[in-house]
Amino acid sequence: MISSDETVDVIIVGGGLTGLCAAIEAGRIGLSAILLESQPELGGSAPMSGAFFAFAGTPLQKIQNVDDNPALLLKDLVESGQGESDENLLSVYANRQLELYDWLGEQGVKFGAVGQGAGQSVARNHWTDSKQLVRTLIQRCESDSNIRVLKHAKASRLTEGPHNSGVTGCVVEQASERITINSRGGVFLTTGGFSSGPDLLRIFAPLTMRALPHGPAGSTGEGLKMAWKLGAGLRDMGRVHSTFGAHPDSKRGHLDTLAAYYGGGIIVNKNGERFVDESVNYKELGDAALLQPDGLSFQIFDQKIMQKFISGELSSSGALSYDFNGYLERGLVFSANTVKELAVLCGINPDVLSETLAEYNASVEGGIDGRFGRRGLCNGVGTLIKLESAPFFAFPSRSFLSATYCGLAIDRHCRVMDVFGDPIRGLYAAGEVTGGFHGAGYMSGTAHGKGALFGRIGIESIARSLAEAVPNHSSGGVQ
Ligand SMILES: Cc1cc2nc3c(=O)[nH]c(=O)nc-3n(C[C@H](O)[C@H](O)[C@H](O)COP(=O)(O)OP(=O)(O)OC[C@H]3O[C@@H](n4cnc5c(N)ncnc54)[C@H](O)[C@@H]3O)c2cc1C
Repeated sequence: MISSDETVDVIIVGGGLTGLCAAIEAGRIGLSAILLESQPELGGSAPMSGAFFAFAGTPLQKIQNVDDNPALLLKDLVESGQGESDENLLSVYANRQLELYDWLGEQGVKFGAVGQGAGQSVARNHWTDSKQLVRTLIQRCESDSNIRVLKHAKASRLTEGPHNSGVTGCVVEQASERITINSRGGVFLTTGGFSSGPDLLRIFAPLTMRALPHGPAGSTGEGLKMAWKLGAGLRDMGRVHSTFGAHPDSKRGHLDTLAAYYGGGIIVNKNGERFVDESVNYKELGDAALLQPDGLSFQIFDQKIMQKFISGELSSSGALSYDFNGYLERGLVFSANTVKELAVLCGINPDVLSETLAEYNASVEGGIDGRFGRRGLCNGVGTLIKLESAPFFAFPSRSFLSATYCGLAIDRHCRVMDVFGDPIRGLYAAGEVTGGFHGAGYMSGTAHGKGALFGRIGIESIARSLAEAVPNHSSGGVQ
């Protein structure tokens, strides 16, 4: 435990990817920092994540002959957000993401194959091993003497100085102790979302309470509540989406997922009817599926599609390497020689499912999906194919909630804005606790990217404000 008379340059609340990058940057430029983490371990949601980062214009893309650049990334980001994102934040990301790519490389993070994710007009999802990512960043953090890491230490309230002088520290609960710690530069909230916070979900995203819960234990929304109490503005709160499609018997933290629709499968509800254009973003699929009877649906596919997955044709980035044989053995994927037999296994009316497939196959012959007008598969990539090669397969699916991607209003310097758009002095935020970046949609790989980048930007801002307040403050290297 630390003592309450200690004062540091910055208090970083939350030791996920955003907080770790912030702490490393603080140490690098010579700020003294305390990193508080409420859970027993650092890492937040990163260890359970797919670990994709959206970068544009990297050497890895060039090797794979992917023609990409920051301007195209920005265009895609604006489109993904459907015009509701804060373009200031998007521009910062587009302009500085290559620098982040290099910075992560300098920390020892290694990226592998590049694949195309939701909302990306070209392949720009850079995959890294999530465990290695977190291990590397934690090691960097823990080996820097400027950084004090406190685990099991929950910030429960922000403290303010007299005469509207702004946020000066926070109350910390660790074991049975409760103390106040102080900071010269302010408090940096990197506390993540509220996917495990039923009280906030009930207010802002009641539909998602029907989804399988899959957020990390520490994502309870405490940071958001602490800032909200001081009048913080909020963004994108009505835009929380669940993700499609995990097996209903999945255990929290170990989801069994499948995306057979990437290869040309269709999705039906338990009545055997299609209800959504399967080429849309997995978040839109997730929401549409939540509205179906019992929130239950089935991905239906055939042997041809199964073969595409097994052969690795659809597995360019590691994301789609499903253990099909394991799924079959465990009974997670149903298999039958006829569509009607498959329907019985799923508990669907056999005649309805047969009709659905017959209608679909007939329309695909004309090159266009008659019911929803789609002409291609996910992101428009891949052609529609008839589902006619036995055996037929079904994967029961539910939507799951892993992240919330909305929250505190910030400006391009990570200053938290109040409900009237003025900065709250001494209060900064970045990562999943913030809103404004994703707007109405979500581009895959940008949650990590924005967390890591704005984690560093928040520290730059704090260093700048310290230097302005105390001209000879020792922090170096700040532009
Ligand atoms: C299953 C899954 C897959 C994902 N896949 C991807 C992907 O492939 N690409 C991508 O870009 N994004 C992905 N994401 C999202 C991504 O992991 C996060 O949005 C991103 O890493 C944000 O990190 P963060 O540090 O802002 O928040 P978090 O990782 O949530 O970290 C916040 C930390 O703050 C701690 N904390 C909270 N409140 C307090 C408090 N009061 N006091 C002290 N500590 C506190 C929490 O315990 C936690 O450790 C995925 C998420 C999940 C769950």
